Amino acid sequence: MIKAVRGTRDLLPPETALWNFVEAAARDVFRAYNFQEIRTPVFEQTALFARGVGEETDIVSKEMYTWEDRGRAASDKGQSLTLRPEATAGIVRAYIEHQLADRGLNKLYCIGPMFRRERPQKGRYRQFYQIDAEIIGPASAGSESPARDAELLEMLATLLDRLGITDWNLQLNSVGCANDRAQFNEALRQALAPVQDRMCDDCQRRALTNPLRVFDCKVPADQPIIETLPRISQFLDEACRTHFEAVQAILKKVEVPFSLNDRLVRGLDYYTRTAFEFTHGALGAQNAILGGGRYDGLSEALGGPPAPGIGFAIGEDRLVMSLEEKTPAESVMPKPDAYIAPLAGMNGDAARLARALRRHDLVIELGDDTFRLKKSFEAAARAGAKYILIVGEDEVKADAFALKNLGTGEQISVPRADLARKIQG
Ligand code: AMP
Repeated sequence: MIKAVRGTRDLLPPETALWNFVEAAARDVFRAYNFQEIRTPVFEQTALFARGVGEETDIVSKEMYTWEDRGRAASDKGQSLTLRPEATAGIVRAYIEHQLADRGLNKLYCIGPMFRRERPQKGRYRQFYQIDAEIIGPASAGSESPARDAELLEMLATLLDRLGITDWNLQLNSVGCANDRAQFNEALRQALAPVQDRMCDDCQRRALTNPLRVFDCKVPADQPIIETLPRISQFLDEACRTHFEAVQAILKKVEVPFSLNDRLVRGLDYYTRTAFEFTHGALGAQNAILGGGRYDGLSEALGGPPAPGIGFAIGEDRLVMSLEEKTPAESVMPKPDAYIAPLAGMNGDAARLARALRRHDLVIELGDDTFRLKKSFEAAARAGAKYILIVGEDEVKADAFALKNLGTGEQISVPRADLARKIQG
């Protein structure tokens, strides 16, 4: 038996109805905030992530699905390719490649699978889905403004509220800019020097190469040491501090609650200034439903023009998980308005009627003329249909059909012309 690869999974109905429900709500909210959809490839050149996300991050150093794509022809060069572990790097690549700066401020979203070779567990998969949004553009278009940070966060609060997820918690931090980071890294190096040999292997390496990443450590024994380390909040320069205060002031004005968390540095190197996560109690250890932040230097790191930006990625798998209790998938799965039961030899007439009714936006399940009526009734009930509609020779001759309400048991004969209205009613 060939099974799905470890860490991947099939999403089956009715659960997929809940996924559609979430995506439809997200698209509605994106529309209200004037975001447009972008789709980028699921694989890119490996260098994009190495340069964008950062060599020392867990994602790039341990978790990427990377392969050497050999050229078939001499003209077709071999290259190292990687399944995208996150969406932002690809979107910024597209921004540079297609000169999206010419369009001013870009408000973009994308929905799709990401791939990371992590240890699979509940809420953590090797192929998982993200709903991602980015605001990016030249600084002259306002891309650097704290108003954009606040708008993005307020949009997320709106989306979660709309989905009925009420007990979320917004954790907010500023990770500063390149200047602050240099000083902070130096202070971290000094603080780590006397203690690093008591830390895990990863942290010992991080202490040398990229000390900020020590904050990603999940080893319990290292946590008391990490608690004593200096925090980025002590190193913010005047401009970063003012920016962060302005974001908070707008959030207060629009009444989006948040808590400050100066340990939050996010697991990717490109973040600058505002960094955030939304957590949700029901998720346990994997409690971050979504995360994001500003990445003002990313475009330049990828060889593009200065293009400040801010974005987030919602873990769709986890969002669906936190919804499941309150919103059973069954409750959002569309049910047939009517099941059409053709009597012997009536498949053609039944198909004709189904075609007409579906054009009125009705959900129609079409039976088979080899079924006895009893079997059709059973199939209609199993499908959850509201009505059963019987198509026999007499009905076609009279141009009126037996329509039975499967809830009330009421049965009436309805002329063809009135059927759609009657079923909708
Ligand atoms: P990150 O940028 O790594 O914080 O990812 C953003 C969000 O994606 C997280 O808050 C999670 O909800 C989700 N996520 C990240 N990795 C996984 C995974 N392996 N499986 C499921 N969801 C994930």
